[in-house]
Amino acid sequence: MILERFKITDKVAVVTGGTRGIGLAIAHALGEAGAKLVVTSRTDKFGGFESLKKAGYEVEFYECDMTDKSIPQKIIDFTLNKYGSIDILVNNAGVAQHGEMEEFNDDLLDKIMNINVDAVFRMCRSAITPMKKQGSGVILNIGSVSGIISNIPQPQVAYNASKAAVHMITKSLASDFADKNIRVNAIAPGYFRTEMTSLPKEHEHWYPTWNSMTPLNRMAETDEIGAAALFLCSPASSYITGAVLVVDGGYTTR
Ligand code: NDP
Repeated sequence: MILERFKITDKVAVVTGGTRGIGLAIAHALGEAGAKLVVTSRTDKFGGFESLKKAGYEVEFYECDMTDKSIPQKIIDFTLNKYGSIDILVNNAGVAQHGEMEEFNDDLLDKIMNINVDAVFRMCRSAITPMKKQGSGVILNIGSVSGIISNIPQPQVAYNASKAAVHMITKSLASDFADKNIRVNAIAPGYFRTEMTSLPKEHEHWYPTWNSMTPLNRMAETDEIGAAALFLCSPASSYITGAVLVVDGGYTTR
């Protein structure tokens, strides 16, 4: 019986940045649990969309740049036109940018905040209306341990601040829309092996620092996020809203 609560058969799920890395792993988890999918990104250069199709899921690719303010509403409209509802929204698309504070220019700051914060806000805003009409919905935002602690050795003030904002968007929406049967949670990943954490040669010495600060003493593989995401997107977590679930190998214990 308990496994029934993890099923999301025929639920419609949008996963931004769902073509590679953490987003792709989440899309596979939701697809395997029965969801119909829309994955978004600027490109499918790593073949993630193709891998979802190959797995046999009902899936659409919406090619877009999240820095365009009009895109979030278009993604939701596309989803409603295609499938008739939006049951699950996973705000995963994000960018990381390291840089010393004094040299971190406005363009970099705008880029981080536009994609990591503003687009997440807009996606939630566009999804809330149909979710209210439907009388239910689930939003999962991908934050970061960087929204909870200040990582070292990389300097990344803007990224850390952007992820703290994602956690607060999560809690505020959870509080405001609980009475509309809309649950909103976040996952705060630790270090996962993806394009984002693939370091240039000169920064490779950061890896041992990251590992030594992680009690499990290693980075995570992307398939270690799917079960946590499915839990928060399915009725298995029916009494959980406003939570930030760390999936970090114990990183934030230290
Ligand atoms: P990746 O860089 O591997 O993937 C990011 C995804 O977002 C890609 O699909 C990318 O597609 C999409 N994306 C980026 N910029 C844009 C844009 N302007 N418009 C549309 N789509 C965009 O990152 P991860 O999988 O590692 O990260 C996923 C999320 O998890 C992010 O929010 C990240 O901050 C968070 N996170 C990651 C951690 C890690 O260790 N990897 C740790 C903590 C949090 P494309 O480039 O084709 O547009």
